[in-house]
Amino acid sequence: MKKAVFLDRDGVLNRALERNGELVPPSNLAELELLPRVRDACESLGKAGFLLIVVTNQPDVARGTLNRHVVEEIGDAIRKALPLDDIRVCFHDDADQCECRKPKPGLLLQAAQDWGIDLAQSFLVGDRWKDIAAARNAGCRAVMVTNGHQHSRDLSASPDARVHSLKEAADWILGSQFHEGALAK
Ligand SMILES: [Mg+2]
Ligand SMILES: [Zn+2]
Repeated sequence: MKKAVFLDRDGVLNRALERNGELVPPSNLAELELLPRVRDACESLGKAGFLLIVVTNQPDVARGTLNRHVVEEIGDAIRKALPLDDIRVCFHDDADQCECRKPKPGLLLQAAQDWGIDLAQSFLVGDRWKDIAAARNAGCRAVMVTNGHQHSRDLSASPDARVHSLKEAADWILGSQFHEGALAK
């Protein structure tokens, strides 16, 4: 069985944009800005044997304010820039009652089935309570990237670690692997 690090997209890989006090995803390719050292972080995790799978809620598509094509275009650009194995997107909103919108674990469970992933050996890195809850619901460990824009609901999340960037999350995950490896010997 393989192990994976599931990566939330906005606020973890790329900068979330602030509009009217809300954090929003890039609305076109020109607004896509990868955060510092994300490539470095992805390479370290890949070298350690983790599959890297993006799991992202994009409800603006269901709300009609963002075109699905733009989300796919941004996904393609991110895949070109970073050594990712897969990108899984939920295009729904709450009213759709789908199984994939985080905090539901559907995106992770489906990817685990398709890739042969051991969820108990896997991690998720996200910046919202919904990410952390999805990880819990799937049986993964969770690392939260906090960024100064946190909502009060996000502050109530209980991740295994809180960090300030994907690079720090990767270092924490790799550190935990080292300790577990040492204990197993
Ligand atoms: Mg996010
Ligand atoms: Zn969905």
